[in-house]
Amino acid sequence: MNETVIIRDGVYICPVCGSKRITEAMQAVILKKCDANTRTIISTITNKPYMSNRDKAFEYDCASPSGVGCWFYVCRKCGWESGLYVE
Ligand SMILES: [Zn+2]
Repeated sequence: MNETVIIRDGVYICPVCGSKRITEAMQAVILKKCDANTRTIISTITNKPYMSNRDKAFEYDCASPSGVGCWFYVCRKCGWESGLYVE
């Protein structure tokens, strides 16, 4: 159960069940800040010791997978998982 994902005409397809419901799971770099002494979170946006959920979500959306080079595919229909791809 370690086959590679099928790409046909630019569409990702599950090699087991043929479904197109393919998730790409990737590692991404996210910047976190905290006070070195107290470990209190420091906002990456305002540099103050509080970070709203909205700002945390913003950091998640901005987190870049490029340069990390590690991802895999999952079929949401049958549960198939590819092996780990590396850049
Ligand atoms: Zn599948």
